[in-house]
Amino acid sequence: MKVAVIGVGGSGSAALRFLAKEGHEAVGYEQFTVGHAMGSSHGRSRIIRLSYPDDFHTGLMRRAYELWDDLEIESGENLFVKCGGITFGPGGDTTLRNTISSLANASIPHELLDRDQCATRFPAIDIGPGSTAVYQQDSGFLRSTRCVLAQLGIARQHGAEVREHSPVFAIEEKNGKVLVSTASKTEVFDTAIVTAGPWIGKLLAPLHLPVTTALRQVAYFAIRRNPENFAPGKLPVWITHSSDHYGFPADGEVTGIKIASHDAGMTYDPDQPDRPVMPEHLEALAEKATALFPDLSGDIVSSQSCLYTTTPDEHFILDHAPGSPRILLCSGCSGHGFKFTILLGRLLADMATRTKADASPTPWRLARFPVPRS
Ligand SMILES: Cc1cc2nc3c(=O)[nH]c(=O)nc-3n(C[C@H](O)[C@H](O)[C@H](O)COP(=O)(O)OP(=O)(O)OC[C@H]3O[C@@H](n4cnc5c(N)ncnc54)[C@H](O)[C@@H]3O)c2cc1C
Repeated sequence: MKVAVIGVGGSGSAALRFLAKEGHEAVGYEQFTVGHAMGSSHGRSRIIRLSYPDDFHTGLMRRAYELWDDLEIESGENLFVKCGGITFGPGGDTTLRNTISSLANASIPHELLDRDQCATRFPAIDIGPGSTAVYQQDSGFLRSTRCVLAQLGIARQHGAEVREHSPVFAIEEKNGKVLVSTASKTEVFDTAIVTAGPWIGKLLAPLHLPVTTALRQVAYFAIRRNPENFAPGKLPVWITHSSDHYGFPADGEVTGIKIASHDAGMTYDPDQPDRPVMPEHLEALAEKATALFPDLSGDIVSSQSCLYTTTPDEHFILDHAPGSPRILLCSGCSGHGFKFTILLGRLLADMATRTKADASPTPWRLARFPVPRS
């Protein structure tokens, strides 16, 4: 089959790789250069974890883990640093309790640590009085830009074409085919996959997709003393439910450790030409960083902005376009989607080639939203 993939960031690069490997004529359209820093998948790290507060995500992540392992083997690159992870918060916190339940339901090994046990095991971080941490050994981080480039490299080896600087402005299903238009030409495909991330709402404006886009910041903080305690494993990836902050150990590639907030963000048009960093967000991050990590100085070594594309329920969108079964949509990854992009790519490839046209899990289908009024 001839399949167009519109947008080759996290999900699109994965879909393109699976399609090309399975012998389909796959064409990826990218409005910028691949691996660019204007969308959602760029940067050195994204958390990957089985520790979700519900059985749905934990179950799907098991499938995603297998696919990431395959990608590492196939690419010959170290893309996944399995350094363990802790989720922590006040002992009675509902999200924490639900996370423990979903790990237990899936028989996934995990340990509960109080503040002192956590300090003994992971001396860099102070989870605070009265907090409990759940440790899961399979958590870690994905080297996100490198994952995208690795998928595209493999896709190209298998014959996929990647057209950079090729913004698509129209996608239309007509007479059992899909017409994909750029400024230079319109091409005919059997199916099209739209993995346009933050741009999906604008590209498919008539569908009134319920997504909002927001700018988020991450910052790398300087280590003042005891750098050995910030190495992967000695410091796991971490998420706190007391404040929605999260972070990483030293990634071995840049100075400092990365800390961010899932909460603080500003609505932002993806077509703005820049991705500014907001000083007030960085100040708030610095305050949190020094409270959690007494060995950090609070000085920011570097920072970066990135876009979230969020749905009202923070579940993704993976579905056929209403009234256009040959056009598939995937976006709305709501700030937690990178770890799933390889699974989304797998499901999209199956849906596009009709190996499994109905592969989208119910919580990711558009039917959950009220029908938009035009
Ligand atoms: C600061 C930050 C931290 C995050 N942390 C985590 C984390 O720790 N763990 C986790 O799992 N997730 C995390 N996420 C979320 C995750 O990174 C995103 O959900 C994921 O990268 C989304 O991938 P995507 O393929 O949907 O979008 P993108 O990767 O943005 O891909 C969309 C692509 O489509 C292209 N495109 C758009 N329109 C067109 C067009 N008309 N023509 C051609 N090309 C087009 C874009 O240029 C882009 O390359 C984080 C996100 C941010 C911003």
